[in-house]
Amino acid sequence: MLGPPGAGKGTQAERLARALGIPHLSTGDMLRSNVANETDLGRQAQAFMEAGDLVPDELVTAMVIDRLQQEDAVCGYLLDGYPRNPAQAEALVEAFGDEVLELALMLEVDAEELIQRLVLRGEEQGRADDTEDVIRNRLDVYEEQTAPLVEYYESRDRLARVQGLGTIPEVFGRLIEVLAQ
Ligand code: ADP
Repeated sequence: MLGPPGAGKGTQAERLARALGIPHLSTGDMLRSNVANETDLGRQAQAFMEAGDLVPDELVTAMVIDRLQQEDAVCGYLLDGYPRNPAQAEALVEAFGDEVLELALMLEVDAEELIQRLVLRGEEQGRADDTEDVIRNRLDVYEEQTAPLVEYYESRDRLARVQGLGTIPEVFGRLIEVLAQ
């Protein structure tokens, strides 16, 4: 699942994974739990996350490779937040082969709506990286580093675009429709 911060990836990925009976693997959640548990990885990742920058590829990739080898991922998984740049996409292919990702689902939402949603989430949930300055940086990082993945998957004929505006059930319905095709 691809999309800018605030597009609703986490919410939709969780529902979709439940509907498909596969694990929802969110690298953001995994990293936040490492920070909360004060693991070595958490300590190394924390400053990058608080600034809204990407955690270095080698740290995140090692975490994901490890997770994908666990038993519950054998019959499929929904990756949310990974890969986040073309180097991570390549690392995944290198580790598991070309079939590692069947489809990239791109949730599309325009920038103004994103900022509004993220500021609101910051107020409601108190996530450390949902303050206005950090949000702007996350959107810039997305444009510079993650948006090139759209082209990466499109050129490999593995991209589906889904409009992310609307209610949660509306967007979910569109995702199900795309998967049924
Ligand atoms: P969002 O997409 O809303 O910004 P995430 O929960 O997906 O939120 O990610 C939060 C933070 O975790 C990112 O800003 C980044 O610091 C870190 N992160 C998550 N996934 C990756 C990844 N694949 N590579 C590098 N950093 C990551």
